Amino acid sequence: MRIVVLTGGIGGARFLLGVRAYAQEVGAEVTAVVNVGDDLRLHGLRVCPDLDSVMYTLGGGADPERGWGRTGETWTVKDELAAYGAEPGWFGLGDKDLATHLVRTTMLDAGYPLHQVTEALATRWQPGVRLLPATNDRLETHVIVSARSELASPAATNNASTVSARSELASPAATNNAAAADGFGGGQQAIHFQEWWVRHRAQLPTHRFVFVGAEAAKPAPGVTEAIAEADVVLIAPSNPAVSITPILAVAGVREAVTTGPAPVVGVSPIIGGAPVRGMADRCLAVVGVECSAAGVGQLYGARAAGGLLDGWLVAEEDAQTVIPQVTVRAAPLRMTDEAATVAMVRAAVEMA
Ligand code: GDP
Ligand code: CA
Repeated sequence: MRIVVLTGGIGGARFLLGVRAYAQEVGAEVTAVVNVGDDLRLHGLRVCPDLDSVMYTLGGGADPERGWGRTGETWTVKDELAAYGAEPGWFGLGDKDLATHLVRTTMLDAGYPLHQVTEALATRWQPGVRLLPATNDRLETHVIVSARSELASPAATNNASTVSARSELASPAATNNAAAADGFGGGQQAIHFQEWWVRHRAQLPTHRFVFVGAEAAKPAPGVTEAIAEADVVLIAPSNPAVSITPILAVAGVREAVTTGPAPVVGVSPIIGGAPVRGMADRCLAVVGVECSAAGVGQLYGARAAGGLLDGWLVAEEDAQTVIPQVTVRAAPLRMTDEAATVAMVRAAVEMA
């Protein structure tokens, strides 16, 4: 059996622990197609937060308390950067983590595509699951927010290092594209997803997400093939608006999922009207989707109606959920330990 999982970082990585254990039980092969919309360049390095969360978690090197980054991490480089006043100071890169980004960036600069770099990094971590970026091309989630003087006014950013850090994160080109697309007269601007999420804790007045580069992005080699050969495609209980949607913003990936032979079963990240962890509720509000199992199920939509889902696995609390033309089942959906997660995966695969 072949299983493909569309996934973000932290919630998705936990889910994949269960998928891997289930696959070992039944002798299945697993391919994870991972969101790259959160990726960014920092201090000259390419950082792939979701790929790394998945790789570290499956490789046994993730910090379980923090939910991201490495166990036993130290922060010498971060402190040294702070001593120089180097921006951005709001995104912490640990010393161990930095080694990953150094290797990745060196390989990318030498001309290797991201999927090959990911494979090379995974030879160390042996995740037991094939990890593929959704695309090798630039695809960055930017967030259109109301401009505030603190963010927008050049006068307020007279610190050269602040300006250069910002232009890297929210490229003027991306900002202009977003502005041009909607004919914004001003008063709004694009910032990189990580700046919105980490620096501003998703607390800014927010209009929408833009997946910069998505129109031109092609699926990474292996992605559409894996989907076409899959016996089941699972949508992990990841953040719908900023982890799953950017994967599907790559037209070739969306088409492979919506038109492929494999049944598609999603697992709800929302239980009883609230995210289990994190701020998915804020992201859903931005895209105008109710924070509920029904809301997310409707966002994904029925494959029979051009959407994604054949099946939608919801928590027992949400057993009443109805999505037209989608089979809905209820099961315990809290990933409290690996056994509980395996049971979730089994329920999802059995629906297929
Ligand atoms: P990212 O960290 O932003 O890349 O996104 P994740 O892939 O980590 O997704 C976060 C989502 O996982 C949130 O919407 C959470 O509600 C969901 N999540 C986290 N833990 C659990 C859990 O135990 N059960 C379920 N069903 N969802 C969970
Ligand atoms: Ca993420």
